[in-house]
Amino acid sequence: MADKISIDWNTIETIFLDMDGTLLDLHYDNHFWLEHVPTHYAKKHQLSLDDAKAQLKTHYNDFSGTLNWYNLDHWSEQLDMDIPTLKLETAQRIKVRENVEQFLNFLQRQQKHIILLTNAHPKTITIKFQHTTIEHYFDQIITSHDIGLAKEQAGFWDRLHQRIDFKIENSLFIDDSLDVLRAAKQHNIAYLLAIHQPDSQQGVVDTKEFTAVECFTQLL
Ligand SMILES: [Mg+2]
Repeated sequence: MADKISIDWNTIETIFLDMDGTLLDLHYDNHFWLEHVPTHYAKKHQLSLDDAKAQLKTHYNDFSGTLNWYNLDHWSEQLDMDIPTLKLETAQRIKVRENVEQFLNFLQRQQKHIILLTNAHPKTITIKFQHTTIEHYFDQIITSHDIGLAKEQAGFWDRLHQRIDFKIENSLFIDDSLDVLRAAKQHNIAYLLAIHQPDSQQGVVDTKEFTAVECFTQLL
């Protein structure tokens, strides 16, 4: 069992939580983009699966780290495929990580301000909420598509600050992306935590300078 992560909850007012890879298992997303989309792309263009994967990889690399990477409409257009409909075909793989609801309940009981802060496209959020029971825990749901910058991009936190009122010294942010956490660190968000194993079907991640959550009960 993983050690407790010591957090002084009295100092924390606002908790920003990422969705995919943090609250939800990243397996769904990885499987979707790296297996399900290539399978359809191969059929559409009469390619081998390996060739489809190689071609898609080039497409993906062109947009990684930008808002378009997360935009389902962008990908529907780029690939000439109905991405939201394809997403629904594998929706049974969408899973809330273990003990996440216990953690969200705990935060709610402590009357913390709980904000979902995600790069996910609004259509992705809708699909995820339809297949989980986490939506009701959030006081606010903010997607970077409303902000106009991805969470890893410079200026994201300044724009967020213009929109909502929070104190950096009383905020905790949990995210599975190191680039995203580093951008938050630049903005001096006081408490930052990474995720030890964002995709349950893949290995653990070296989270470098960030403490990683292995299990959400470590925070209780
Ligand atoms: Mg994530």
